[in-house]
Parts: sequence; C-alpha cells; structure tokens
Amino acid sequence: MGRKFFVGGNWKCNGTTEEVKKIVGTLNEAKVPGEDVVEVVVSPPYVFLPFVKSLLRSDFHVAAQNSWVRKGGAYTGEISAEMLVNLDIPYVILGHSERRQLLNESNEFVGDKVAYALSLGRKVIACIGETLEQREAGTTLDVVSEQTKAIADKVSNWDNVVLAYEPVWAIGTGKVATPAQAQEVHAALRKWVHDNVGAEVAASLRIIYGGSVNGGNSKELASQPDIDGFLVGGASLKPEFIDIINSAT
Ligand code: PEP
Repeated sequence: MGRKFFVGGNWKCNGTTEEVKKIVGTLNEAKVPGEDVVEVVVSPPYVFLPFVKSLLRSDFHVAAQNSWVRKGGAYTGEISAEMLVNLDIPYVILGHSERRQLLNESNEFVGDKVAYALSLGRKVIACIGETLEQREAGTTLDVVSEQTKAIADKVSNWDNVVLAYEPVWAIGTGKVATPAQAQEVHAALRKWVHDNVGAEVAASLRIIYGGSVNGGNSKELASQPDIDGFLVGGASLKPEFIDIINSAT
C-alpha cells in the first residue's frame, strides 16, 4: 500500500486574528489535489485552534503544537490531550526541536507524550532531528535512532504516527538539507523501524522532512523515495505553502 503524502504547516507562535483569517482564506481558495492524494494539516497557536477549525475547508485539518504528557490538571500553561478530544482537534505535533531545546523536553518525555496523545485517539506528528554539532560529529543516525527508540519504547501501534525528521540546523535557517542528505536519513530511519519495530510498520509509516522547505525546493525533496511529505514552518504562513502541497503530485 502506498504512503499518502502528508503536508503539515507549523505556524509556531505567530499570527493575529486578522492574519490567521488571511492565511485560512488563501488556503480555502487554493487548488490542490484531493484528500486521497495528500493529507494537509495546519497547526495554529492554541488560542486560534477552534477559530481556524471553524473557518478552514473541510479537506484540511488542524493540529495542536503540543499536549501535556498525562491527564490534565494542575499544570499551569499546558493544554491536555483531553482538551484536544473535547474540541475535536485530530492531530498534535510533539517533540518539536524548539521544545526539546528551549524547554528541555527529553527523549523519554517526548515518548511519554506521544503515547499519551495516541491513547486518547489523537494523531501525532512526532519530531526528531540532530543539531549541527551532532551532524558534524557524525552522530546523526545515532541521535535520530535514539529519539525514535524513545517513542518506540512507549508505542505499540504506529497507525496514527507521522515521523517528522527535522534537522535542527535546517529549521528556520534557510539551510535546507539536500535531497540526498534527507533521503539518507529517511532511509536509515525506515531501516531502523524495520529492524526494531517491524516490516509492516516500516512500509506504511510516513516519514516527512522539515527544515527550510519552500515552494522552490519541495518538488525535488518530494521526489525522494523515502520522503513522504513535509512539516513546514516559515513557508506555511505564506501562499507558497500551496506550492508545497502541490509537490505531492
Ligand atoms: C518547523 O518548525 O517545523 C520548520 C520546519 O520550520 P522552517 O520550515 O521554518 O524551517
């Protein structure tokens, strides 16, 4: 069975009500392949989630940018997976490098978060990726394998997981991985999943790339056999996001 192309837009901590309306307006008018060809998910900041969901075309979906590691309660500033269920928010991005780096989220913590969100029926975009220092030290594959293992240790059913390989040095820097660099890591990750989780999961798991993807480089990246889509930051706030979605075909 083929892996359906996946394009996620991570709006991060950006936007006002007016800007959000404008972005959604552009998305709603866009001509893109159908849901049978490409799955499109946008991830606004929490406070805009219900608003965006109410305005967005029905063939595009919304994702939260984080959810708490266990049942909600006395965790000031956090959003629980239960709330995502309540608001019918189907997806959540977990383990983004900005949270791993700035908020010290460990591999184990991310693994627990992924497992908890999945247990409540959410679909998870789980992010992994090496820093520049780790790449230069030649440890990229060790780092991403460890990050994936921390998820695999907690998760038995991968049906609702999309794995996002996002080299930290490529995020928001304009330094995109070359198609060969990205393909090398994606293929190695698929092999890791094959050897450590199972052949079926390895064949069906979407492994998407993130890091300075734009309308000009997405087509060539998308042509790589193990790149099943993108997680897009900066360019997801611009009309070129449509070109990225269209690189699915
Ligand atoms: C991201 O934050 O997930 C990302 C890939 O950002 P950018 O596209 O801006 O590099």
